[in-house]
Amino acid sequence: MSAIDDLPPLREVIRDHGLSALKSLGQNFLLDLNLTSKIARTAGRLDGVTVVEVGPGPGGLTRAILALGPEKVVAIERDVRCIAALAEVAAHYPGKLEVIEGDALEADYRALVPAGGRAAVIANLPYNVATPLLIGWLSTDPWPPWYESLTLMFQREVAERIVAAPGTAHYGRLAILTGWRAVARIAFDVPASAFVPPPKVVSSVVHLVPRTIPLPCALKALERVTEAAFGQRRKMLRQSLKSLGVDTTALLEAAGIEPTERAEQVPVEGFVALANHWVAMRAAGAPVSR
Ligand code: SAM
Repeated sequence: MSAIDDLPPLREVIRDHGLSALKSLGQNFLLDLNLTSKIARTAGRLDGVTVVEVGPGPGGLTRAILALGPEKVVAIERDVRCIAALAEVAAHYPGKLEVIEGDALEADYRALVPAGGRAAVIANLPYNVATPLLIGWLSTDPWPPWYESLTLMFQREVAERIVAAPGTAHYGRLAILTGWRAVARIAFDVPASAFVPPPKVVSSVVHLVPRTIPLPCALKALERVTEAAFGQRRKMLRQSLKSLGVDTTALLEAAGIEPTERAEQVPVEGFVALANHWVAMRAAGAPVSR
């Protein structure tokens, strides 16, 4: 019996169900109840909220979330070996835990949560798919999204790229997409020793809250402009933006950005202006730069 519920301790669950960690599935389990509770609490109050969890594994974080009394938890797990262990958790919380065996990269999240209801994502993400999952959640349309917050564990280095400010080494495409659509912060770090088995790096829990009304901008245009700018991040923008196929000097002037600036110096609003003026110049058939 564990401290937060009447279920067996996680070490027993892992032993009884033969859940030796698989590197190929990014399996680094959290067994410390204080830590799983701290992650779950970072999401804020959960009453009335449907929580989507990616990669519940043996169910440690799942149990911490359920102990906080959410409306429901929908957990997507790719490893078939974990399903029986999770069924025991579901039996302990009747009607509160739905386990879906499948790939979180393929899930139709909007269909998993009640239409018009409150939803949040809480996950100790498998590191091999963490960034694509975040990009998918931030790129979702229509906006505002189907969730009211994301509370996610990443490798510290990825967390730094998510929250990076302009002018810093980690600032790039991920920080711009994040900053455009959400407000993100690193809630706390988690040492490698907290995981079984321990990964090679420190991890961080990141909390993201979507902006209700991001600056108006087409996602595809923002992606294209940031791709061009950061594809050659050491070059001045008048050079790196040439692949956009318009007069870069005119584009930068329209966006109010010095042609000698580099990508990492431009804030999110600057990239939004670049994307919008690029779309407008192309629509107007603007002459191509040489
Ligand atoms: N939540 C558990 C914990 O905190 O101890 C396990 C976290 S472990 C870092 C990542 C989990 O994601 C593993 O259970 C793994 O099997 C699962 N997983 C890996 N790739 C997945 C995918 N594409 N879709 C769904 N689950 C996946």
